[in-house]
Amino acid sequence: MSSSWHILGAGSLGSLWACRLARAGKAVQLILRDQRALDAYQIAGGLTLHEQERRSHYAVPAQTASAGTPIHRLLLACKAYDAAPAIAGLLPRLAPGAELILLQNGLGSQDEVAEQTPHARCIFASSTEGAFLEAPFAVRFAGQGFTWLGDPLQATPPAWLDDLHDAGIPAQWTVDILTRLWRKLALNCAINPLTVLHDCRNGGLLGHLDEVEGLCAELSLLLQRCGQPDAAQDLAEDVQRVILATAANYSSMHQDMRAGRRTEIHYLLGHACRCAARHQLPVPRLEHLRQRLVDSLQARGLPSV
Ligand code: NAP
Repeated sequence: MSSSWHILGAGSLGSLWACRLARAGKAVQLILRDQRALDAYQIAGGLTLHEQERRSHYAVPAQTASAGTPIHRLLLACKAYDAAPAIAGLLPRLAPGAELILLQNGLGSQDEVAEQTPHARCIFASSTEGAFLEAPFAVRFAGQGFTWLGDPLQATPPAWLDDLHDAGIPAQWTVDILTRLWRKLALNCAINPLTVLHDCRNGGLLGHLDEVEGLCAELSLLLQRCGQPDAAQDLAEDVQRVILATAANYSSMHQDMRAGRRTEIHYLLGHACRCAARHQLPVPRLEHLRQRLVDSLQARGLPSV
């Protein structure tokens, strides 16, 4: 495909995608937050990708939202709470029929973006790749994973999927992207908030399995009520499998809390509780969990939405 990849956000995943696409010879343009970020980026001279023991440097061109050129394809690589404001700043630049790839974890932000962009195609992504910034514009590829992509409104895959294969980005198109996003959200709701409240690694939840199982029971009912029965299949077993497989890790929410960063609670547990309320489904354990998490984040001076 000829048109450029615009990538908003030179954070962990945005930088990881930008480096691999640039390495494969694809045209990439980074969109940074403001002139100050652009100046800092120019001084850094590009992005650095650190994978295994190898470091490589990519002088990916960058701009701010105020650049005038049209955008045909945009990877939105910011946090869920930044997605709607970020896209609002780019609306004048979106070409008719532009394709937006939404990398956000959780649910809710995708609809916020889609409501603002009726003339664009919104493609949802769910990724298990792991990356973090070692320094500004220097990304560490920390965990091999996979990215599912799909469009709940249109089953036809986009032609640029080949770009991802050329770039060595493990990805596949699915007609069930909502099932995957709901399942990931349910796993997150059953594990991440408890790791914050008990201040433990994922494996620490082995000492709180009653609590975990109670949450899984409510989450399974919720998924069925939301029309996602496949996402509810064997949820409790899968949650236990993930806890065991990632026992030594700190969850992303725990890492955010520890680093004093805003969490994506509004699009994870918050979304689950809002959906339950909309369906008039009582979920007392999830509600209690959300309230405890809100209190805990507020006590640390962190945003609770
Ligand atoms: P991140 O490291 O915080 O990067 C987000 C980047 O977006 C930041 O550089 C941020 O800039 C930038 N940004 C926000 N609003 C912007 C705007 N209006 N214009 C330009 N840039 C803007 O986040 P991440 O870890 O890559 O995560 C992105 C999404 O992927 C999240 O929903 C996350 O849950 C999901 N995810 C991440 C991983 C992972 O391993 N990192 C894995 C799976 C899923 P500032 O620094 O100025 O705020």
